[in-house]
Amino acid sequence: MRPLNYHHKIILYNLLIYTITIAGAVFFAVQFTWFNSIRAIQNDLLQSGLDTNLYIQQQTASLKTNDEKAAYLNANASELYTSIVPFSRCHTELLALDGTVLAFNGGFEEPMHLTAEYEKCRDTGEPNFSVRNDNGLTELWMVTPILSKDNTVIGYTGYIFSLATALGIEHYLFSVLVITGVIGLGVLWICVSKFSNGFLRPIKDLTRISAEVNKGNYNMVIQYKKDDEIGDLTAVYNTMTQNINNVIMQLKSERQRLGSVLASLDDGLIALDRDGNIIASNSYLKTYFNVSNPKSVYDFRYQSFLRDIFDSLKQGQDFISEEVDCNGLQLLLTGSPIREPNVEENYMIIIRNVTATKTFEREQQKFISSVSHELRTPLTTIIGYTDMLKRRNVQDPQLLGSSLDTINHEGHRLVRLVDDLLSANSTQATEFTVRLTNVDLDALLRGVVDQMRIKCWQKEIEISYKAERNLKDVLGDYDRLSQIFINIIHNAMKYSEPGGIIDVVLTEENNQYLSVSIRDFGVGIDPAKKDFIFSAFYRVDEDRSRSNGEGGAGLGLYLVKQVVEKHNGKIRVDSEVGEGTNITVLLPVVDEPEDAHEA
Ligand code: ADP
Repeated sequence: MRPLNYHHKIILYNLLIYTITIAGAVFFAVQFTWFNSIRAIQNDLLQSGLDTNLYIQQQTASLKTNDEKAAYLNANASELYTSIVPFSRCHTELLALDGTVLAFNGGFEEPMHLTAEYEKCRDTGEPNFSVRNDNGLTELWMVTPILSKDNTVIGYTGYIFSLATALGIEHYLFSVLVITGVIGLGVLWICVSKFSNGFLRPIKDLTRISAEVNKGNYNMVIQYKKDDEIGDLTAVYNTMTQNINNVIMQLKSERQRLGSVLASLDDGLIALDRDGNIIASNSYLKTYFNVSNPKSVYDFRYQSFLRDIFDSLKQGQDFISEEVDCNGLQLLLTGSPIREPNVEENYMIIIRNVTATKTFEREQQKFISSVSHELRTPLTTIIGYTDMLKRRNVQDPQLLGSSLDTINHEGHRLVRLVDDLLSANSTQATEFTVRLTNVDLDALLRGVVDQMRIKCWQKEIEISYKAERNLKDVLGDYDRLSQIFINIIHNAMKYSEPGGIIDVVLTEENNQYLSVSIRDFGVGIDPAKKDFIFSAFYRVDEDRSRSNGEGGAGLGLYLVKQVVEKHNGKIRVDSEVGEGTNITVLLPVVDEPEDAHEA
């Protein structure tokens, strides 16, 4: 059961104290009144006894001995009785020395026998009183001795006084006091209730505002203007919440600053306390480890290397660096302790994604060996031929001519290779720009096909060109577009056998693009390798590329892709091994009048 609240307690305690006080007051008032009434009646009856004594002493003044006086009393009880009754104004009896009732009120058939009071009076010689409740009547019973002049007892007078009047007064007084008390109780209830409400209001405000503060609303202020203890309390409380608010704002801005610092890092970071709980981290943890909302290092269930590093740091190791393979990424982990004076040691692990660096390093290695090899092959041929011509002093014009052809061919191959390298380098450079103008793609392709026709003819390959009529222009860089179509046709030629065919077709697609399809019927490309042919330095079949004497460094299609993307175009490859390859370049058409643009 919920204990009583303060409001009810205050009311209850006040009413309780009031009730006890009033009950005590009523009790004492009633008792006091009752006691005084009895005292007054006793005094009256004692006075009656004294009057009786005086009267009987007068009546027996002529008799000498006390026995004679007692005998006189016994003999003349009835006469004496009628004279003494008026003194007491109540039921009165005259008793002999032995307690026998000599006379009593005429209205009573029987004497009342005040035996107990008589015996006590006889034994003590003093008047005896008692209050009796009989048959619903409350009465004061009293027996007093009748004394002769020398104070010898010669008889007794008994009185029975009804206390009905005194009781009535007492009941009346009790009722008045109780009714007054109850009214007072009601008034007190109302007053205390109001007082308690007023008294507790600031405390209720304090509770309400504390609840708000608990929810994180630290801007609450208690309005209490009085200069008393509650006023002091609310002032202190307001200052306290203000201070908390300031500290929290400060913490928030610190946290934001730390958060933005962590977010701006290029590496993953995880800071741990001694129990392995995460005290700071950034979003790279999710990217690298795919663990959502981790709270401790033990939440990385599949990344035991993090726990191992944490354990080693906890055991006192100062620096740990290791590389791991994780979800296809190459990660470099560096762990070190965070030590500050008077603060428990914490630990930090930095996670760096070195996949790209590693790939780059591998690519670079591959590139260097590939380029070296590609450069070496024509150079070796050139040097071999020139050595041979010089050593043998060749005069035969036919041998001399064919040797010079080979040297020339290898020289061109070297130039092409160096050109490709330079182009690849320039497309990687940030200043790679294309100068966009309206280009008549039909005219451009005609030129390119004508240029390539001689080379094809040398390799006994037939090249055809078809174009739809009245095509729109495309927005492009004439030289770079020419270069990419040369590259694609050159590949088609390289990877076709003598007697092969190359079809170049220009059409419009969806009124949005011009589509250039370059189709050959050569070796084709393995579907699994199709996606890689646009990567720099990639060659499907390195041996073949080299052995056919035409192979490049795997940069041709890489350049094509860079240039097409710069033109907001698309590129598609359809190929089957042994069936040939169809490379389609889509370039957006332009409706605007001719104008020069930079992109
Ligand atoms: P490369 O200069 O070595 O030809 P590219 O970037 O031009 O390099 O081409 C990448 C690779 O794609 C080539 O090595 C070759 O294996 C493959 N390839 C490109 N075009 C064709 C084609 N028309 N037929 C078959 N294979 C091709």
